[in-house]
Amino acid sequence: MKIGVHISISGSIDLAIDRALERGCDTFQIFTRNPRGWAFKDLSEENVKKFTSKLSDSEIAPVVVHMPYLPNLASPKKHIYKKSVDSLIAEVHRCGLLNIPYCVIHLGSHLGTGIEAGYNRVVDACNKALSTIDNDVIILLENTAGTKNSVGGAFEDLQHIISRVEQKSRVAICFDTCHAFSAGYELRERKALVNTLKHLDEVIGLNLLKVVHLNDSKGDLGSHIDRHEHIGLGFIGENGFKIILNNEVIKQLPLILETPIDSRGDDYVNLAKVRELAVK
Ligand SMILES: [Zn+2]
Ligand SMILES: [Zn+2]
Repeated sequence: MKIGVHISISGSIDLAIDRALERGCDTFQIFTRNPRGWAFKDLSEENVKKFTSKLSDSEIAPVVVHMPYLPNLASPKKHIYKKSVDSLIAEVHRCGLLNIPYCVIHLGSHLGTGIEAGYNRVVDACNKALSTIDNDVIILLENTAGTKNSVGGAFEDLQHIISRVEQKSRVAICFDTCHAFSAGYELRERKALVNTLKHLDEVIGLNLLKVVHLNDSKGDLGSHIDRHEHIGLGFIGENGFKIILNNEVIKQLPLILETPIDSRGDDYVNLAKVRELAVK
């Protein structure tokens, strides 16, 4: 199985690979820059070279990039929307430079202007980024917890967007277990999980599912609370993850943890728990 975590690029982006190797990751996710601000510097040629050569020397694949937090690709505020689209363009470009195949995006909040308007903005943003940057990078739409005004809580939301993206081969999805569960999709029992994935297959197509974010949930089923919990300590629980990790579809995908680091656990603890629960 391919299991990994979200890794810090602190110090220099290539250090992410050392950290991933230290943790025994087969795959991992990064932000290509500080995720809490708008400003960023271009990647230097030297940094790109260090990263790509370390990566090709390792057996890690795939690496996944997550968009920074501030952009809102569904925002009705012109100024924010423009900056958000520019950020997406930059991330798709940076993924290409770093030989990273996937860029995970959140679909944002329409801030009360309606889901249709939200869809339109996200679709336009994806089309703009993909037509501006000519590379093989695939944008992965991540499902959300379905909080108020958010776009992407239902599989149908993702499908609405995918169906209108022009370059079909460059859009797919990332499935976050915490978000799906808190949006109301049951995953904890074998039959319920199979049904949830069957529904995903019918609406979007399992062939478009490229990455799984493996997170437990601080909120209960259908709570719409987007708070990740350590594997096994949340409402999905150890038994739930046993079912998830032994599912034929899930176990073949890159599984990336975005779990907390606190007094109850860290990346090492969560990775060990996943490997333990993955054994039947
Ligand atoms: Zn995310
Ligand atoms: Zn996620």
